Amino acid sequence: MKRTSPKPASLIRPLVRELHGYVPGEQPKIKGLIKLNTNENPYPPSPKVLEAIKSAVDGRLRLYPNPTAQLLREKLAKLHGCKPENIIVGNGSDELLAMAIRTFVEPASRSGERSASTVQFFTPSYSLYSVLTAIHGARANVVALDKEFGIPPLVLLKKSKAWDFKAALTLVTTPNAPSGRGYTTKELEALCREQQGVVVLDEAYVDFARENAMQLALKYSHVIVSRTFSKAYSLCFQRVGYFVAHPELIAALDKIRDSYNVNGLGQVGALATLNDLKYYRTNFQKIISTRERLSRELTALGFEVLPSQTNFIFAKPPSFPAEQWLEKLRAKKILVRWFKYPNVKDYLRITIGSDAEADALMRAGKAILKAG
Ligand SMILES: *Cc1c(COP(=O)(O)O)cnc(C)c1O
Repeated sequence: MKRTSPKPASLIRPLVRELHGYVPGEQPKIKGLIKLNTNENPYPPSPKVLEAIKSAVDGRLRLYPNPTAQLLREKLAKLHGCKPENIIVGNGSDELLAMAIRTFVEPASRSGERSASTVQFFTPSYSLYSVLTAIHGARANVVALDKEFGIPPLVLLKKSKAWDFKAALTLVTTPNAPSGRGYTTKELEALCREQQGVVVLDEAYVDFARENAMQLALKYSHVIVSRTFSKAYSLCFQRVGYFVAHPELIAALDKIRDSYNVNGLGQVGALATLNDLKYYRTNFQKIISTRERLSRELTALGFEVLPSQTNFIFAKPPSFPAEQWLEKLRAKKILVRWFKYPNVKDYLRITIGSDAEADALMRAGKAILKAG
């Protein structure tokens, strides 16, 4: 009898078959489109960074890169006042977030203990967390931020019982995305002190904020600070992020790391970035001042703009639902982000672009309101 080949779906693990993968912001190739949807930096990397990457492109591409990103870790250690053993570099911080779940959290089926298989985070926050949790087959404990997207006070978290102080892993986007709200180191420290599992403070946007909590990663054995070269350092394309934490946590993460996880040109680009921080600090100031101006101008237009400590703003638009604004702005070749979740669906998330892009957004906004 002739054997028929198996149905492809039957070959796939049920967990993966039923998985809803992460949906990244669009990267469309439309001419003249103003792209304010994925929090990319409007300014290019430093000329010195471009030069360093270009001059690394030669016959050496046939060689494997440094497996542990040694030079980069040494340089980062100097920057943060710690040791290279406190640092692990990833193919973007997304890779490290996935590794943290695999290192610290039991898949739900393998453990009777609830907290041991729990990944905990607030909503709204970085939407990748729930996908990574599902991929691992762990349990997500999702707790709402307050109405202003603040972290609920500890007394309330304790009283509500929804929050798990023993969760194996807690992920905190700080400053928050998509709301842009910043948190003080003091309140983050108070929360960390109560957690018995690992806490990752995801500081992807911290260069645009008033405070950072790096000191907590060096003070507490269970606190990890996550950083990335993507947003503030204009290096999304190269995929470089890193964790700072206690050497034993870093060593554990390192055990499950792919041998050559960070590509060579990414290492070169990130190192050159650290040699020219002045250039980037000037850009942070430019972006922050554009953010403050755009917030004022959109407010004057009737938008309800939340205070932001990031390179984007979260705003409730006037006159039409946010979803319609998304389409109306798109028709004017301006792409912003809209999330179809209950507590955020009335808002648009708008990346801070250049001043010219902010002007174009204001012109489009005025024209949309005028057309009615
Ligand atoms: C963009 C982003 C990341 C991922 O950054 P990569 O280093 O590019 O992977 C992580 N966390 C948050 C909150 C982000 O917005």
